[in-house]
Amino acid sequence: MKNLRSEIIKYSKMLNSKKLSALRSGNISSRHKDGFLITPSGKKYSVLKNNDIVFVSLDGYFDKKKGIPSSEWKFHQDIYRNKKEAKAIVHAHSTCATAVSTHKRGIPPFHYMVAMAGGHDIKCAKYATFGTRELSKNILKALKGRKACLIANHGQIAFEENLSKAFELAEEVENISLQYITSHKLGKPKILSIKEMKKVLSKAKNYKRG
Ligand SMILES: [Zn+2]
Repeated sequence: MKNLRSEIIKYSKMLNSKKLSALRSGNISSRHKDGFLITPSGKKYSVLKNNDIVFVSLDGYFDKKKGIPSSEWKFHQDIYRNKKEAKAIVHAHSTCATAVSTHKRGIPPFHYMVAMAGGHDIKCAKYATFGTRELSKNILKALKGRKACLIANHGQIAFEENLSKAFELAEEVENISLQYITSHKLGKPKILSIKEMKKVLSKAKNYKRG
């Protein structure tokens, strides 16, 4: 458990150093026993200690004396409850993904790497106030058949089978968002057909990397 806590801290600091989220925005969790370990509420990642990482059970119970989890813990809980394959979650307010999300739209298959999120597009969850069960519900809808999505007027979220992969997927979503924004400088980008994306998705299943 000590190692998992330090790993969460390591990736939290990378949210800052890789410019995925500034100061204390965003949050990271990892499935653990009958619940998950998550970054605490309102602490800068640069000062985090192992004891600051909070355990929340799948039923949503946590011991307040041991620390308060991120105010956004509910969507972590709902993802772990609904997606057995989710072992780690990275949520970031990364600049480009957030910029696209403020247009309340997802990312179409303008590039085949969109398939990294698990489908032919990256969906954008409907806006709801942060930390609410309503936002959780909207996120789960956007994550149907996907491992990542944007969150309207908020940011992005990615889950995977471990922290390293979840972090990499969040970086990928940020990079795809930057490319998507950039492509609009030349007008509206041409998008790939669903048929082509199905080919890419089946290839990605075999190779994991295109
Ligand atoms: Zn957030």
